[in-house]
Amino acid sequence: MPVVVGVLKESAANENRVAIVPEIAAKLKALGAVVMIERGAGTAANFPDGGYKDAEFASSSEILARADVLLKVQPPSSLEVDALKRGAVVIGFMQAYARPELVRALAAHGVTSFAMELVPRISRAQSMDALSSQAAVAGYKAVLLAANALEKFMPMLTTAAGTIRPATVLVIGAGVAGLQAIATARRLGAVVEAYDVRSATRDQVKSLGAKFVETGVSAEGAGGYARELTDEEKARQQEVLDARIAASDAVISTASVPGRAAPRIIGQAAVERMRPGSVIIDIAAEQGGNCALTRAGETVVHGGVKIVGPVNLPATLAFNASEMYSRNLFNLLKPALAKGELAIDWQDEVFAGAVLTHDGQIKHEATRKAVEGGSP
Ligand code: NAD
Repeated sequence: MPVVVGVLKESAANENRVAIVPEIAAKLKALGAVVMIERGAGTAANFPDGGYKDAEFASSSEILARADVLLKVQPPSSLEVDALKRGAVVIGFMQAYARPELVRALAAHGVTSFAMELVPRISRAQSMDALSSQAAVAGYKAVLLAANALEKFMPMLTTAAGTIRPATVLVIGAGVAGLQAIATARRLGAVVEAYDVRSATRDQVKSLGAKFVETGVSAEGAGGYARELTDEEKARQQEVLDARIAASDAVISTASVPGRAAPRIIGQAAVERMRPGSVIIDIAAEQGGNCALTRAGETVVHGGVKIVGPVNLPATLAFNASEMYSRNLFNLLKPALAKGELAIDWQDEVFAGAVLTHDGQIKHEATRKAVEGGSP
């Protein structure tokens, strides 16, 4: 019996992405799988039904009843989990820390679930790294939001009406999103500087043509691990950063610590030092924000400074974000479909690392503790 791979139309608000684009449906079929997709699943990402030549269309209830593997962008709902076969596999962003009931339902229903956010960040798994692919989208889009919100040009302009100075952009957090933001702001012609607590990012920032903000404080401790800074060092670091924030036309903040609330880096006082018309695009908004004034899903104006707290930026570039996500899913799933039937190699550190529930149990240790401890 061929493996049935199911794809639903995402039901979460403003989720325009689709888990499988036509290119990947064709690749799954070539591996011997049957792809069943709900009508309109790709429409919001501009992949109309007509493009899915290698998939069969079916109702959501039929897909849920027949799928051996259900591919999702957002976590499945409890109703969807209830409708799955025992032993079915679900792969998507599971947001387990915020959804203890879902995790319990997945385990109780004997569903094997893999969370894309748990895929180990090892070299071999880079092509499966959906956190990175979607963060790159967010970093790019954040700069476009900044350009749009600013009442200034990004590049330097030399015109008959005089020379216009380029905008200054500060990127806080030089991870995947931050580096993409730097590259995008540079392409638009802005003068860019960036800051990260990891000094390893210094060379990456410089190689993209941006200046690294030197605070004169190093968090480098023994064995390459970060050490706790003294209060005096923290104050010195913040003072330097506040001055750079005050001098910027646009701040793109992307700082994040896995599994925790976003670090608070831009205080109200720092915002009040910025020029009116400046903007902050806080892409950590959904994790509580890097700026004290950020409100997720809103634009707050404080003293003429716009603080934008975007939510689910990848869904606003749904076509390319879906292509990238779909390829990540395929690269993860492919080894398990190699022999034409579903066979997960539990010795493979990618599957072993990304598994959330299997065989009635919560396999991911931190999630199990959180769920069984009763806290989200
Ligand atoms: P992230 O989204 O968790 O964090 C974004 C950035 O915020 C990080 O660079 C972090 O150092 C920074 N940050 C945290 N606290 C901060 C603070 N107080 N002030 C300033 N900056 C702060 O991280 P990410 O972008 O998902 O990934 C981070 C890094 O992980 C990457 O840049 C890369 O080096 C590594 N990575 C490796 C692989 C791989 O090997 N397959 C894949 C992806 C990422």
